[in-house]
Amino acid sequence: THFGYKTIDADKKEDMVAGVFHSVAAKYDIMNDVMSFGIHRIWKRFTIESAAPRTGMKVLDLAGGTGDLTAKFSRIVGPTGQVTLADINDSMLKVGRDKLRDKGIVGNVNYVQANAEALPFPDNHFDIITIAFGLRNVTHKGAAIASMLRVLKPGGKLLILEFSKPQHDVMRKIYDLYSFKILPKMGKMITKDADSYEYLAESIRMHPDQETLKQMMTDAGFEQVSYTNMTDGIVALHKGYKF
Ligand code: SAM
Repeated sequence: THFGYKTIDADKKEDMVAGVFHSVAAKYDIMNDVMSFGIHRIWKRFTIESAAPRTGMKVLDLAGGTGDLTAKFSRIVGPTGQVTLADINDSMLKVGRDKLRDKGIVGNVNYVQANAEALPFPDNHFDIITIAFGLRNVTHKGAAIASMLRVLKPGGKLLILEFSKPQHDVMRKIYDLYSFKILPKMGKMITKDADSYEYLAESIRMHPDQETLKQMMTDAGFEQVSYTNMTDGIVALHKGYKF
């Protein structure tokens, strides 16, 4: 593949993703800030604004990891609402739960270990589902999107925040250089784990671009699907409704 990295075999992908997130969990938050120069905070803030949560709503923060979005949702939906942080990885869940509890975010948050491909929730349950920087790690993305549609209430919305395709050549070149050359070195320096950050760069490269993901959501049955590019399309926020 590009730059000589290994192709990720679908069968092995799940084990690999598990290994990556067990390995980075403890340093995940600091790495996010360092690698994105803090910009992930802006991308996440925009996601919350687009989700437009209200008091009393039920929100699923899927692949919620260390809980950045969950923390914000929890404050907004209040004691009559409920935020479910679901993640496949128990190390990430533990770091997230400890962090949120330390911040005093308790009461309306619950934690569920679950695979996005087969969500253990009833039909028509959530008002909002977010999956931030999670979908590209999922092996069967179509199954995951269908599962999200099932557990969403009619009238509910799904927001997918994910790396996407930079819109301009110059940005694409800078970004490739950064993600394939600099990022794994930074990852190695901070976490002593270059492989995980090589995986990260490769998974970003392999992820469907804006239009492809939009089509996948539409094919799964989402309606009024649209997306917003951020930072020249390095990241895109896709939104779709269930009617
Ligand atoms: N949403 C958080 C954020 O934006 O900071 C965490 C994103 S982190 C890059 C990706 C998360 O996806 C990890 O916590 C990982 O365990 C989780 N994940 C990977 N595959 C998953 C799956 N099949 N189902 C649920 N979660 C998954």
